[in-house]
Amino acid sequence: MLLIFILIFNIQCNYLGQVSQIRSDLIRVYLFPHSHDDVGWIKTINEYYFDYHGVQQIINSYIEELIKDKSKHFSQVEVAYFKMWWNEQNNTMKDNVKQLIQNQQLEFLSGGWCMNDEATTYYEDIIDQMTLGHKFLLENFNYVPSIGWQIDTFGHSNTQALFSNMMGFNAWFLGRIDHQERLEREKKKELEFVIHSDEENSIFTHINYYGFYSSPQGFDFDISNPKRNYVSNENLEQKSEGLDQYFKQQCKSYRGKILAHTLGMDFEWSNASSYFQQMDLIINRINNNSHKFNMIIEYGTPKQYIQALNQQNVSYPFQKEDFFPYSDHPHEYWSGFFTSRPSFKGYVKRIGRYFQQVKRFYSLVQMNNIICDETIIQDLSEALGTAQHHDAITGTAKQYVINDYFNLIHKAYIKMDNQISSFLNYLSNTSEILHSQCQFNESDTCDSLFYPLSQNKTVIVTIIDTKINNDGQQEYLKMLIPKNLNIKVDDELGNPIKGEIICINDQCTLYIPRQINNSKLLHYIKIMVDFDNNSKIIRLDPKLIEIKKDTKIFDKFILNYKVYLSNSSSLSSGAYIFRPIGNATDYGDYLSAIQFSGQIIQQIYFEKTTLKVWISRFDNQDIFYIDTFLDSIDISDQQGREIILQIHTDIINDNIFFTNSNGFKFQKRRLNHRESQNIKIKEKIAGNYFPINGAIMIMNKDGNSACAVLNDRAQGGSSLIQGVIELMLQRRLVRDDNKGLFEILDEQEIIKGKKLGIRQMISHTVIFYNHEQQTNLLREFQYQQDLQPLLYFSTQPSIRYSVLQDLFQEFLIKQSDINLSKLYIEPWLQKNQYLVRVHNMREEGIQKLKFPKELTFQETTLTGNQELKVWEHNRLKWSDKYPKEQNYQYKYDEVGPMRIKTWIVTI
Ligand SMILES: [Zn+2]
Repeated sequence: MLLIFILIFNIQCNYLGQVSQIRSDLIRVYLFPHSHDDVGWIKTINEYYFDYHGVQQIINSYIEELIKDKSKHFSQVEVAYFKMWWNEQNNTMKDNVKQLIQNQQLEFLSGGWCMNDEATTYYEDIIDQMTLGHKFLLENFNYVPSIGWQIDTFGHSNTQALFSNMMGFNAWFLGRIDHQERLEREKKKELEFVIHSDEENSIFTHINYYGFYSSPQGFDFDISNPKRNYVSNENLEQKSEGLDQYFKQQCKSYRGKILAHTLGMDFEWSNASSYFQQMDLIINRINNNSHKFNMIIEYGTPKQYIQALNQQNVSYPFQKEDFFPYSDHPHEYWSGFFTSRPSFKGYVKRIGRYFQQVKRFYSLVQMNNIICDETIIQDLSEALGTAQHHDAITGTAKQYVINDYFNLIHKAYIKMDNQISSFLNYLSNTSEILHSQCQFNESDTCDSLFYPLSQNKTVIVTIIDTKINNDGQQEYLKMLIPKNLNIKVDDELGNPIKGEIICINDQCTLYIPRQINNSKLLHYIKIMVDFDNNSKIIRLDPKLIEIKKDTKIFDKFILNYKVYLSNSSSLSSGAYIFRPIGNATDYGDYLSAIQFSGQIIQQIYFEKTTLKVWISRFDNQDIFYIDTFLDSIDISDQQGREIILQIHTDIINDNIFFTNSNGFKFQKRRLNHRESQNIKIKEKIAGNYFPINGAIMIMNKDGNSACAVLNDRAQGGSSLIQGVIELMLQRRLVRDDNKGLFEILDEQEIIKGKKLGIRQMISHTVIFYNHEQQTNLLREFQYQQDLQPLLYFSTQPSIRYSVLQDLFQEFLIKQSDINLSKLYIEPWLQKNQYLVRVHNMREEGIQKLKFPKELTFQETTLTGNQELKVWEHNRLKWSDKYPKEQNYQYKYDEVGPMRIKTWIVTI
């Protein structure tokens, strides 16, 4: 009795949230006050921030409460919003906030610019958006986040788990997993486990109780909640008992006696004082009567919870599989958003790759003591960071919000492009000459080429190529040219270059082979009107051919376009959900087809009533580039339609296919089956769709016959039929799926005064290969696709670029095989510091490094915010039954296959 009394006394002496000694038989609950603030969704970012009760008010409100009372804690997630708020504060408030962070009252979860989506994001963009947020926290607070927070993303990827470990997180918290899996895990006390994303990386994983991130039901006291039921003298006991029961129930699904629960919801906590007051009444009641409730509740942060949990010495189950596709109902699979709004997905993917190259070029220019405006890098980083949000790139925001994202990126991109133009002027010792890229959309003309040529002016095409050690390899430049002009193309020495032109329906495309030369970053060619008749550019003649639905293209594969009709019941396809009525059927009728057979390029072009297709191959290789122009989808019969592309092969893949995770490692998928859980899949199509962001591949059992399809943006895809790969291209719907968007996914454009569904040019690369013997081949094409040279057009008779000194010229040791390592460089905190990464894209083979003597390298975690050694020393260890293997330990100057290393380099 005495003992209990003393312990209770101890607890009461401490303020809430700082409970130091706790009876071991008590259940200990950590409540995490947090607000889930989407970086755009139903409203734009600015609307959400400045709204009455918006994010500005939320942060003001919780900060005020934390300053008043040290027992209060709060977790902030989205740095995009926190930076907006921070920039409005005076020095006193800034000092207060620093103190709150010091007190561990204010924690940052994930600390990314946003909570990025995990299905439709590309791995480089995830790294960038996390780095952006982490850099802000490091610069302003010397703060390093240690907890991942992916509580609203619609499924979870292997890459996000892998990167969470590489970023120095001790755990990550998830909300949404498959509804059947959740029930299974609840029963088996497996809502906490360790994910082994590969042989070296693992992360402790916590699934929020009941799969969401809100307060316990009945305890949401936020002023925005119309159903809030405040605490009174009359209902205090009843509410305390209710909460006690709730947590005792929760305790049955977790191991040990330490529990965690979120306290908050979307855009909540704009009146933190009232929320805390209400909750305090119940917490005090329970804590002061621990003999009755056997429970202690405190405000805390996930970091505190994870530290307490780690001390418990409990062994956890492990998992290797990722969490796609997510479903919250037997007939609702969230696999529609893998494809929703392909134009936005394509734009983000394209600008993201452009940005990787531009950052490297920019850094190189800066290292050569040329003055650069760093705000331009910052602006594009922020715009692209915002686009990775789980309602942005996913295509699940309202149309006007998507337009806002588009504008944000486009504005930053234009500024960046102007900066590149001024660099090119500087390096060529010219001024006021505009170097501009052509429009990305293939159906446009290229004004910066067409107009000067029509005036008989010479056009310089500057080629920025940031690849490394790929000398001598061949690639192909492709550009639109005017129809009625004979042109010639010269190299830098004035020698005419070979090329072939294909003209279809008044649109002419020039194809030029190019030998890669990595001795310098800047190259150029000259395009001019051919007056002397000495051009080596040849126009190819078309030959009429016949294409039907069973025609083998280039005798290699059948290419079909099909349509799924969307279910029109109350459980229908929408921006998130894919729910077709039955199997896909042929989409459109065949019209005409022609073939061009050149030395450089061989091309088949065909038209259907619904689309146009170009299939190209170079030098007669088994690599096929498919460009599909998808016309407006007709939904005038009030029937939603979802269009797919199918590649039919002879490969016997026996229900198994591989999809790469955010463009990173391949995940094995088996039809109607999950490796780790016993799940029944009732939706045989939607439930077998996976996010494809990079490539999907099938192969026979021996791996000696494989086919992979690379895409140019995130799409949903599968292999539902033996030997067939399918990818969803576009969706035009007539219903909403009731997941909160309340808007029908029907992107439109106005063509000749008529409102039509948005039209789209979408590209795929199809590769046939021997996976056993050519393990790295697929990565070669991904590497080439990501590092396509940037073309800048300018009108001037000649140009000469001064050569930039490149300190990293020999950093990646040249190997005998084809280089597949990417080098990333971007400015870091100090003027003479750069964040440098190497990604070895090989599936097999080590990349050796040679550190330049004049530079200082410090190896860090993935986002550059802490020394790798420090993290490895301090990280929490978890006990699980995963069979440990002795792996090869890569040396400091080696990057293993499919691995990334990061350094802060001081010059
Ligand atoms: Zn959200």
